[in-house]
Amino acid sequence: MRNKREDITFDASSLYTYEKMRRDLYMFEACFPHMALNTAGISLDGRDIYEVIVGNRDAKRHILIQASIHGREYINTLLAMRQLKSFLEQEEPMNEVCFHILPMTNPDGVTISQRGPGAIRKPKLRSRLQRCCKKDFKSIKAGNEGTVIPESKYDEYWKRWKANARGVDLNRNFDSGWQAFQGTAYASCEQYKGAFPASEPEVQAILKVEAENPVVCTISYHSSGPVIYWDYGSTGDVRLADQSLADFVSKVTGYEKESTILSELDAAGCSDYFVLEKRIPSVTIENGEGECPISYEEFDAIWSANQKLWPLLARYVCEYKG
Ligand SMILES: [Zn+2]
Repeated sequence: MRNKREDITFDASSLYTYEKMRRDLYMFEACFPHMALNTAGISLDGRDIYEVIVGNRDAKRHILIQASIHGREYINTLLAMRQLKSFLEQEEPMNEVCFHILPMTNPDGVTISQRGPGAIRKPKLRSRLQRCCKKDFKSIKAGNEGTVIPESKYDEYWKRWKANARGVDLNRNFDSGWQAFQGTAYASCEQYKGAFPASEPEVQAILKVEAENPVVCTISYHSSGPVIYWDYGSTGDVRLADQSLADFVSKVTGYEKESTILSELDAAGCSDYFVLEKRIPSVTIENGEGECPISYEEFDAIWSANQKLWPLLARYVCEYKG
């Protein structure tokens, strides 16, 4: 058992893919009996949307953490997995709290950003992706009739992919300000909100975890910032609880906090939904400084900002008196 634990390593020099994450999750499950591995849903291209459960399932306070809902922000999966390992190795058992962690909410989107549309297995989805690409490039072509777009531009396009495998921006697919949000009118690499709220399996997976558990706070990992987004337009007790959570996360990470309302950020996101519709305090942590995908060279800084967050958060939710 001991040896197995020590075998768990992260290779930051190559891409941390869905397959590597799955291998590590199985390894964690075998090494740490106090961790449970669930599938909260299945992506359109047939990948598991994993949910890791750590802590006491009968606890009153459950915490939902999700990473990589945007494909190109996959550095946060590596972060969540590193945090998970360190969390599992801590000796004291948690009786008062239960964590639900979705380390890769959008496995298809991550796969597209890392390996291009050819890595999507279903031919229908692959041709839909090519149609997204054509439409997204249409404006460039319109002004330059006959201009050949260089191959490198396409490479860049796929690397910066945020949506799921049918071009829905999952963080614009939540039922909170969805109707009013305009975004992109068609399936696209980003900002298309989908045909109706929660139309996508990845969003349904998050909602399922919340519906089945008494969730007291949620954290969404995105890139880049570094910044903590909060203040989604709530009032009263929820706003105070959200402010307190944002202050706490800001203090632990050293990231400044910023009001979503004042920054005029887009609606229909995961945190907006939980705060406004479910009255659950929620913050968004934007890790890294550079352009997405964030270079692994930034990983050490991201890790040191977030290293202590989960164990401190467990204590925080127990001590919070609203
Ligand atoms: Zn994002």
